[in-house]
Amino acid sequence: MIKKITIAIDGYSSTGKSTVAKQLADYLDYIYVDTGAMYRAVTYFAMQKGYISENHFDKEALINSLDEITVGFEKAKPFETADVLLNGKNIEAEIRTLEVSSFVSPIATVPEVRRKLVHQQQLIGKQKGVSMDGRDIGTVVFPDAELKIFMNASAEQRAKRRYEELLKRGDKVVYQDVYDNVVERDRIDTTREDSPLIKADDAIEIDNSEMNLEDQFHIILQLAKDRIAGRI
Ligand code: C5P
Repeated sequence: MIKKITIAIDGYSSTGKSTVAKQLADYLDYIYVDTGAMYRAVTYFAMQKGYISENHFDKEALINSLDEITVGFEKAKPFETADVLLNGKNIEAEIRTLEVSSFVSPIATVPEVRRKLVHQQQLIGKQKGVSMDGRDIGTVVFPDAELKIFMNASAEQRAKRRYEELLKRGDKVVYQDVYDNVVERDRIDTTREDSPLIKADDAIEIDNSEMNLEDQFHIILQLAKDRIAGRI
């Protein structure tokens, strides 16, 4: 039987972590988990309940209602990326807006939120054969992952990619707002007390500012194959 490993892909906002994590999962027939989507689902819940808005965040209310939140995933078709579910409702489109992006990092600083989602992520990846992307996968969720990648790219490149993605979705956004959001999320994610975004000591850093998707995929796939074969 072919050995299954755990692949942890962390890095700054909009570095293309999800794209490569998904490519790897498809190729290796692994489970793919977008943990950012889970934090976004909790954020959407908090927004709906009025717990968070501009200049207001009722952390206690959110903590007290965590038991009412169930985050899940569903695949519309076998080979498609799974959509995120909040209490059984598909909210994939709703969580990708710039508004959710602007509230998600404060929500992700709350230790109780993290504990709930990290526990669920660890259960999903228990049997290995998982490719998971986020901010704390190689440091907190799976510190023993066989392959850890830390992705980076210039803030301008990342904002540009994000901006084009949002435009493609039909969202009316201004480039400067997208850029500011990317930079602000990185600031909050790297400076929070609980599980800040940092490169794990044994993670391999990849800067993809000047790299195309295909080259990036092949570099990381080779690393995964080496780990599976026990070559490294
Ligand atoms: O990956 P994505 O950009 O969708 O993540 C949205 C936000 O969720 C991040 O900016 C971060 O605040 C939070 N997050 C986190 N830990 C993870 C994944 C995401 O704190 N493992």
